[in-house]
Amino acid sequence: MASLSQRTWSDILTHVRNEQPELVRSWFHTMQPLDMQQGVIQVPTTTTEQYLYLSRHCQPAINQAAQAVTGRLITVHFLAPAAASATEQPLTFEAETDHLVLNEDYTFDQFVTGPSNRLAHAASLAAAENPGRVYNPLFIHGDVGLGKTHLLQAACHKVRDRNPDAKILYISCETFMNHFVEAIERGAVHQFRYRYRHVDALAIDDIHFLAARERSREEFFHTFNTLFQSHKQIILSADESPRDIPSLEDRLVSRFNWGLVTRIDAPDLETRMAIIRKKAKLRCAVVPEDVVGYIATTVDSNARELEGALTHVLALSQQYEGTIDLAIAKEALETDSPPRAKQVRISDILEIVTKWYNVRLADLQGKRRNRSLAFPRQICMYLARELTSLSLEEVGGHFGGRDHTTVLHAVRTIQDQRERNDELAAALRQMTEALRK
Ligand code: ADP
Ligand code: MG
Repeated sequence: MASLSQRTWSDILTHVRNEQPELVRSWFHTMQPLDMQQGVIQVPTTTTEQYLYLSRHCQPAINQAAQAVTGRLITVHFLAPAAASATEQPLTFEAETDHLVLNEDYTFDQFVTGPSNRLAHAASLAAAENPGRVYNPLFIHGDVGLGKTHLLQAACHKVRDRNPDAKILYISCETFMNHFVEAIERGAVHQFRYRYRHVDALAIDDIHFLAARERSREEFFHTFNTLFQSHKQIILSADESPRDIPSLEDRLVSRFNWGLVTRIDAPDLETRMAIIRKKAKLRCAVVPEDVVGYIATTVDSNARELEGALTHVLALSQQYEGTIDLAIAKEALETDSPPRAKQVRISDILEIVTKWYNVRLADLQGKRRNRSLAFPRQICMYLARELTSLSLEEVGGHFGGRDHTTVLHAVRTIQDQRERNDELAAALRQMTEALRK
């Protein structure tokens, strides 16, 4: 039994800050670990978002830091906030989608406004402050990386902050469709309807995917009508305006136009600079103005690219004792390949994926095919093909001798999902970054 000094804990956080600055969030200093027991440091969290963020994204980095700082085989265990586990409802569908899961960073505070997004921002804020009363539905469209998901989630954060009892559902269109299919297969359509039609606010991201699936579209149509008639807020995002979404039928197009349809455009230079400042502050990094200007002029597409560029600069600055200046920014952005790329080993991939998805190595390499194992297994195969020089057969060999077509199928499945699922894309990016370190 050892007690953990405050000093050790702050050293651990400093270590993370040095090794993986992109993971650090401004609220990290509020974490107060409990004592260490049998080599496990218990760290309570205060919100579900913090808990999910830490356990999904930071676990490997924090464990590594704890081991590096103490020189012992210590692990860090994050505790879900007491309130969340006490109110958890009985599960019908996948556990994690049953309570509202939002990205902690996607709040209105963290959203920079400018001419390109002012209306979408104002409308989301108004809808969140008066759910179901002002703009219903609210439909936000625009190209990737311009902040649609951020605004949808900010609205959900706001509705919840104003009314902690409000039932809010934020989901991707894909999740909606998957739940529906799953409900049909299980004969649980009734529960599905109950779940989606008894909410105060429903936000569905990337609704254009609905166009491809007729039965889901039909179901969505009825969900929409029910919520709309009872003045519940509906917020949708898509990559195009309702009438430009191919094969979306007229009755949906016209309903989407009942409320407010608003577009987000690419940010101008000022806005891009403000976004970089905001993201730097969130990561507790001090970025000089000339560097802010340099990144904003070099990367002129969207906020996601800006964020990626900033991450590159911060990562490279670690090689120069944390200095961030114009020369370093240039070096970081002028080379196309990420800094410090190194050969990745399959064992590292297995380690990171088992931790990330909380599965056992033996199960990944075993024969079972349920989705909770098949998916992380496919992720491993995909990462192995991306980051190592192993052939399809060799990769299959690491997974209980699966043949090359299985591996190929896995790689294609993940590639395909990566295109359509931002969260997965982000997870893959982070794992890749961690592996290359
Ligand atoms: P979309 O859903 O439109 O593809 P996202 O909402 O995922 O885009 O935005 C991509 C990234 O850019 C996110 O990290 C988001 O926080 C950030 N971002 C986009 N627009 C803004 C903005 N106006 N202010 C701050 N961050 C932004
Ligand atoms: Mg999005």
